[in-house]
Amino acid sequence: KISRISVGMATCGRVAGAQSITQTLVGRDWENQARVVSVGCLGACYAEPMVDIRTPEGRHYFYGRVDKQSLWSIITTAQGAPPSAYNLWAVAQEHQIGVLRGIHDLELIKLENFSFQKFFNPQVRRISGRCGLINPQNITEYAAMGGYQALERALFKLKPSNIIDMVTASGLRGRGGAGFSTGEKWNITSRSPDPKRIVVANADEGDPGAYMDRALLESDPHSVLEGLIIAAYAIGASEGYIFVRHEYPLAVQTLRNAIFSARRVGLLGSNIMGSSFSLEIGVVESAGAFVCGEEISMLQVMENKRGEPKCRPPYPAAQGLQNHPTLINNVETLANIPWILLNGVDAYRELGTTKSPGTKIFCLAGAVERVGFIEVPLGTDTHVLMEEIGGASKQSVKALHIGGPSGGIVPYSRFSLDYESVAATGAIMGSGGIVALGTNSCMVDMARHMINFMAHESCGKCVFCRDGLPELESLLLELCIGKAKEGILEEIEELSKAIADSALCGLGQTAVNPVLTTLKNFYSEYQAHLRGCC
Ligand code: SF4
Repeated sequence: KISRISVGMATCGRVAGAQSITQTLVGRDWENQARVVSVGCLGACYAEPMVDIRTPEGRHYFYGRVDKQSLWSIITTAQGAPPSAYNLWAVAQEHQIGVLRGIHDLELIKLENFSFQKFFNPQVRRISGRCGLINPQNITEYAAMGGYQALERALFKLKPSNIIDMVTASGLRGRGGAGFSTGEKWNITSRSPDPKRIVVANADEGDPGAYMDRALLESDPHSVLEGLIIAAYAIGASEGYIFVRHEYPLAVQTLRNAIFSARRVGLLGSNIMGSSFSLEIGVVESAGAFVCGEEISMLQVMENKRGEPKCRPPYPAAQGLQNHPTLINNVETLANIPWILLNGVDAYRELGTTKSPGTKIFCLAGAVERVGFIEVPLGTDTHVLMEEIGGASKQSVKALHIGGPSGGIVPYSRFSLDYESVAATGAIMGSGGIVALGTNSCMVDMARHMINFMAHESCGKCVFCRDGLPELESLLLELCIGKAKEGILEEIEELSKAIADSALCGLGQTAVNPVLTTLKNFYSEYQAHLRGCC
């Protein structure tokens, strides 16, 4: 009557108490009826801990914010006769917990407390579709949902140049922030005269409020591995690395297990799937600094050097790790690759905009009811994200902070979430973290907080970034505590522009974005602070 009980054991689930739920379930006598499995995150982090009860017919019943008491009621009911959806539903209602059915066909049952229907219905889960459904430690479950079919197609039906052409034609843009054409990057690296080429997946996700890479690595690591193997085959690389944020121990462990499983079944190492292609992949833990997510710093760390940016050119595509041409792609970018190869360019471009095709994973945080990671077509309206999916009310959100600490803070309004439209607001897409700032938030203090973060993370190489950011923070602090003098707003703007203009790397160039965008969009709040009205 129950074939499987899955507990969401990604970081969000564990923080909400999923480990004790699993401990309660494991070791029980299920009379061979049910298996207890740890899965990743479904995206609805606000409803953790989540439990998925699966019937022998393959139906899923998802329960949110489960505790030990409600869990046993659900299971007892499901095991007893009749094990109908109605009974499960009744138990869910009794315990005020949410339930949704059949996430694949999005046949969702609505329960006011959880609003799963509102959360999932507007989404299109192309890249994150397996997250929360499969055991990330089990390569067979990945394969059962279409995993590694794209690799097989790549190795036996396509030439490397065909793959690069497909990725270029798909219009896939790097999901790490800059939005550079992925196919073009692959093309440049593949044309290097140096025969030793390397692929690096950048999983040094440091933006506060962004956790899409962590979610993918903890919930569906093989999708990233598969994308990386295909990328390596396409550009002719024989070495691959995944550079993972030091603060993501679960992602590191899950990834290492996935690599071990892939190697054991012949998907890594020599003669992959019996082809002539060979590849080894290693995991490197980052040095725990925000600047190490910048690609040159990352390569420096991987060479056991101090993690700091350098002048470019040469670019990594020409001269990267150990001076060999190196393709660097973000985790989410790589997870798109198997989908493109399996479904084709036209299908990929069906969603998104002409210049920003496909879907994008965003992380919702801040003044929303439903915090989590979601996947929608690029070009989706902010209103859909914040109000329909996130459950925020229009009146309760003053501003959106988009693109991490070096992104922008813009007034909450309706605009399309694609690279061009976001840039037109003065913010940047970044990796896709969106923090809703409530009506009580102080925009000046918010900017000060971000500058504090960036000043701490500056590597110290450039004078204006190293010394200018702390100076900028103290000016903002003077404003916040009501001790500022006339002329300070001009001084703040001038110093911000000087830092951006003189910085060597993207961190310094964009660090002042929160200040410049709040000055532009919320000047009256700065003036109010100056008058001592706050
Ligand atoms: Fe380092 Fe800042 Fe200069 Fe970048 S801009 S190299 S982080 S000091």
